[in-house]
Amino acid sequence: MKYSAAPTRSPLQRLVEATVEGCTNCGKCVRDCAFLKKYGTPKSIAAGFDPTDRQSLHRPFECSLCGLCSAVCPEKLDLDGLFLEMRREAVDRDLGAYPEHKPLVAYEKVGTSRRFSLYRLPHGCKTVFFPGCSLPGTRPEAVHSLLALMQQADPSVGVVFDCCMKPSHSLGRELHASSMFEEMNDWLLKHGVQEVLVACPNCQVMFERYGHGLKVRTAWEALAESGVRPEPAQGTVTVHDPCVIRNAEPVHRAVRTLLKRQGLVVEEMRHCGKTTVCCGKGGAVNLLNPPLAAAWGELRKKEADGRRIITYCAGCVQALEEHTPANHLVDLLFAPQQTLAGKKKGAKAPITYLNRLRLKLSFKRKKGKAVLRERTYLPGHAVLPKKRFWRLPFTQVLIVAAAAGAIWFSV
Ligand code: SF4
Ligand code: SF4
Ligand code: SF4
Repeated sequence: MKYSAAPTRSPLQRLVEATVEGCTNCGKCVRDCAFLKKYGTPKSIAAGFDPTDRQSLHRPFECSLCGLCSAVCPEKLDLDGLFLEMRREAVDRDLGAYPEHKPLVAYEKVGTSRRFSLYRLPHGCKTVFFPGCSLPGTRPEAVHSLLALMQQADPSVGVVFDCCMKPSHSLGRELHASSMFEEMNDWLLKHGVQEVLVACPNCQVMFERYGHGLKVRTAWEALAESGVRPEPAQGTVTVHDPCVIRNAEPVHRAVRTLLKRQGLVVEEMRHCGKTTVCCGKGGAVNLLNPPLAAAWGELRKKEADGRRIITYCAGCVQALEEHTPANHLVDLLFAPQQTLAGKKKGAKAPITYLNRLRLKLSFKRKKGKAVLRERTYLPGHAVLPKKRFWRLPFTQVLIVAAAAGAIWFSV
């Protein structure tokens, strides 16, 4: 195939060629995807791709990277892989930095900072709970409850508060994501950790893609296997499987097992399991092109048809609840009556940051012998430079938010 200019990345070159040659323009992938409806079939996008053209390099940042297209493609083309590679090409050419993405990059940076991160490994720890960033912020009490259940089976289960680097991965910042992840992985291995229990599908994907030497399981599989009996509940719900783990069938099954064990009726939507759809947050499209992202939420609203959506990704809940009633699985497990009555909601920023700090401190101050660490690594730096507390931007936000809260409650 002839390009006006060839991509610099060889995986991208291969994917572009495979798509141009393999796509038959059948249109199956276009049916439910607003991005493809806007830009045409993958064949036409790949055939018109010019890595020297800004517009070509911008296009993949409007794709949610959800993988539905690859899941339905009869030719088994790797289409979300193609669009991710296009993003990486843009980053390699210094054309992948968008001001709209700054809040997400800052969010990730906070998660990996010395102030917010914490590793706590009790004596003999071989398994750690890695709750991710969103769950501790929106539902800190659930993190305590989940860890308590895990420690009933094994009191030496540790906990890690850190970011899995999925935002950088999705934004095409491959080197930054892999370097940060690698350092965390190596530290865990060096300290005898063999297994990671995750509660976020994005963390699961990152451990499976970038991790090595560690067994990865979800908290939901561990709970389902443990035979735990959550508080009984009555009602009908439907499940949104997070798009990034569309192929993780054992996880889909474990979640439904837990819900059914509670006594709930689970009805499936048209898109579930392998053919689940994006919630709207995928690939940070909600920041760059909100109407495209909202199209997914509207599709979910239509398919849920008034039934409460239960999902197991705190990010998905935030996106879906803007369109239709939605809750995290932990809401139902630990507060079923409140959840089914529509009264259980996750915290919102900036409270989420305060929750994360409080949660971290509660574990840092916990009694008992344990190995502790706060993250001080940045690629290219041996340790993070120390900054004065009051100069950090998030601290300033918290101070302003706390002051605003105090004013609000005093009037
Ligand atoms: S948004 Fe999802 S379905 Fe559409 S092209 Fe991107 S990965 Fe494929
Ligand atoms: S489903 Fe596959 S073959 Fe059909 S248009 Fe999409 S990429 Fe092409
Ligand atoms: S928040 Fe959930 S559904 Fe949305 S993109 Fe992320 S994993 Fe996929």
